[in-house]
Amino acid sequence: MKRSLFVISGPSGVGKGTLVNRLLQEDDSLALSVSCTTRAPREGEKDGREYFFLTKEEFSKRIGEDGFLEWDEHFGNCYGTPKEFVLRQLESKSVILEIDVKGALQVKNSGFEHTVLIMIVPPDPETLMNRLSQRGSETEAELEKRLERVRFELSQNHLYDYTVVNDDLEEATRALQNIILKETFRGDKHD
Ligand code: ADP
Ligand code: 5GP
Repeated sequence: MKRSLFVISGPSGVGKGTLVNRLLQEDDSLALSVSCTTRAPREGEKDGREYFFLTKEEFSKRIGEDGFLEWDEHFGNCYGTPKEFVLRQLESKSVILEIDVKGALQVKNSGFEHTVLIMIVPPDPETLMNRLSQRGSETEAELEKRLERVRFELSQNHLYDYTVVNDDLEEATRALQNIILKETFRGDKHD
C-alpha cells in the first residue's frame, strides 16, 4: 500500500471542494492539506479548516523560510502548500492537495515518489458558470476574473494523470474513489 499525494485541480466552481469533502468523509486513510492564503475568509470559512489565513507579511516570511512545497498568486492573493504540514500528514495517511495547475505541476516535479494529478472538469461551460454564481461567494468582478482563468485551467488537462467529469456528484465521487484505490495498491506485489 502506497502513501500518495493526490493533487486535485480544476476551475473555480467545478465542485472540487464538494468532492474532496465526500472523499474525506468516506475514507479515513486520507488527509487534506490545508493551504495558506492571504485572501480574506469567506463567510463560514474557519482558520485552519479551509485555509490558514495569513497576512502578506506572514506569507512572505514563510517563503523566505522555504516553508512552502509550492506557492502562487491568484486574483491578487497568495496561496501556498505548507511543507511541514503535508510531510507530517504523510507519515500516516495519503494526502489530498486541492491546488491550481501551476502548483500541481510544481508538486509533481518536487521529488515526491508518488504524486497523482487529477483534473476535475465540468460537463459543459454553462454548468460551470451556473455553479460558480450559485455559490454566491464572489462579486461580479471577481466572477469575471475567475471565468477568464477557466479556459487556461482546462487547457492543461493533458498534463494530468486522470480527468474526472463532475456531472453527477455520486458518479464523480465513485470515479475519484476508484482512482485512489487503484493508485494506492498499484505495483504492490513488486514492493
Ligand atoms: P470548487 O471547490 O471547485 O470551487 P465547489 O465545491 O465550491 O467548487 O462547488 C461549487 C458549487 O457547485 C457549489 O454550490 C456545489 O454545491 C455545487 N456542485 C458541486 N458539484 C456539483 C454537482 N455534481 N452537481 C450539482 N452541483 C454541484
Ligand atoms: P479560492 O480563493 O477560490 O479558494 O481559490 C482560488 C484558487 O487558488 C483556486 O484555483 C485554488 O485551486 C488555488 N489554490 C488554493 N490553494 C492553493 C495552494 O496551496 N497553492 C496554489 N498554487 N493554488 C492554490
